[in-house]
Amino acid sequence: MIQANEQAIRQVVEEVLVQLGERGRGPANGKPKSGDWGVFPTVDQAVDAAEAAFQKLRQTSLAERAKAVECVRRICHDEADELGRLELDETKIGRLDHKIEKLQIIRLVPGIEFLRSDAVSGDHGLTVTEYAPFGVIGAITPVTHSLPTLAGNVVNMVASGNTVVFNPHPSGARIACEGVRRFNRAIHAATGLENLITIVEQPTLETAEQIFEHRGIRLLVVTGGPGVARAALASKKRAIVAGPGNPPVVVDETADIDNAAAAIVKGAAYDNNLLCIGEKEVFAVDAIFNQLLDAVGRNGGYRLNAQQTAQLTKLAFGPPEKPGGHAVLNRELVGKDAAVLASQIGVRVPAATQILFAETDTSNPFVPEEQMMPFIPFVRCRNAQHGIELAHEFEHNFRHTSIIHSRNVRNMTIMGRLMDTTLFVKNGACMAGLGLGGEGYLSYSIATPTGEGVTNPLTFTRQRRCAMVDDLRIF
Ligand code: NAD
Repeated sequence: MIQANEQAIRQVVEEVLVQLGERGRGPANGKPKSGDWGVFPTVDQAVDAAEAAFQKLRQTSLAERAKAVECVRRICHDEADELGRLELDETKIGRLDHKIEKLQIIRLVPGIEFLRSDAVSGDHGLTVTEYAPFGVIGAITPVTHSLPTLAGNVVNMVASGNTVVFNPHPSGARIACEGVRRFNRAIHAATGLENLITIVEQPTLETAEQIFEHRGIRLLVVTGGPGVARAALASKKRAIVAGPGNPPVVVDETADIDNAAAAIVKGAAYDNNLLCIGEKEVFAVDAIFNQLLDAVGRNGGYRLNAQQTAQLTKLAFGPPEKPGGHAVLNRELVGKDAAVLASQIGVRVPAATQILFAETDTSNPFVPEEQMMPFIPFVRCRNAQHGIELAHEFEHNFRHTSIIHSRNVRNMTIMGRLMDTTLFVKNGACMAGLGLGGEGYLSYSIATPTGEGVTNPLTFTRQRRCAMVDDLRIF
């Protein structure tokens, strides 16, 4: 109740600030000049508004940019409960506690403080390299974290001076539009700038295509699965692609087994296994296999027997459409609670159950496919080398994320070299690779095939060099 009141008061204050600010700046009725606080019916309108916003933004100070970024971080933090609930209500995948947390932690996404300039001085003077904006960026976001990806992208991209047009996943478009409205309204109140973020209200594959082709878009940033990653890589524009993963975990005989089990459950259960970095299959050596499975059971896992596993597998995957193709994932089960998956096969699990798990072999489709649901297959391996080779095979060279639990530095090195993944986590849950329980900063767009890695404000910049000849070296 108190929270609701606080939120209502904040909204009123924002509206008043907007109106006060606008007396000297623009529309007197507290409404934006065009669109609905950044939400537009067509791609052309969204791009035009973002271009006009870019022309204004490039004339404003870094301090104003910082204010805009702060608005996004603050709203994500302070309104996380409401926005997280709205996202879950709309997408119907994942977990409320994690939907909320994914918004609260947007404050860990780097903004203006990450920017820098480089300088070199010598006999021929001083040369400065500055990291300049591209202009209008076209961004595609996934349903698995609709608003968090959008918000994280905005923090990075606006910090580096760009404006953005979003084409969200159609199943997460309502919450994405709501976020854009709230961000723009607050940014306008704080800075007078409009439409730094624009979005297509009813996104489709056609509107995505229009963004890919639009002359007003300077750079594409795509976060999603194999289809959209391929489409972006084939585009004529420069694209930064945060593509799919199927992160394997190797556990060898030297691992701290309780720590490994707790970390696997924590990572795999996060938002019901929707994270692209989330643990998707485990390769554990025979010497500790049974011990590990017992520990997973003690840490929130519920073990299925062979028959139950076969039943769930049949529900979760249809046969490939063509011989040798991918098993077809049942989207109805994606992001559902472990208890819901269990109930589908007539099993009741304790209330605290985080994941379901079982021993399988590699022919079970849960091993090669990115299931995005809280069932984890555990495959028994002869030794660490065998486990590492299987991990390499089933990561499919996405070069996204891999994880090892081991105290053997040699095994870590062999796996790190072979996997060649963007994130390689040792002795922790997958989130440690994004600074959550490990060192480093957070982003929801991890650029994998195009190589930029965990994106940050500098990812969305062009380098510009400014050379002063023969002067300004001052010693
Ligand atoms: P998805 O591929 O179904 O959709 C992602 C976005 O692409 C949506 O906006 C969708 O409308 C659009 N899209 C899909 N096909 C398209 C096409 N041919 N042309 C243009 N646009 C197209 O993925 P999803 O289910 O929303 O998200 C989950 C996937 O995203 C998983 O594969 C996951 O690994 C990946 N992902 C990767 C990262 C990363 O940082 N690398 C982050 C989050 C999710």
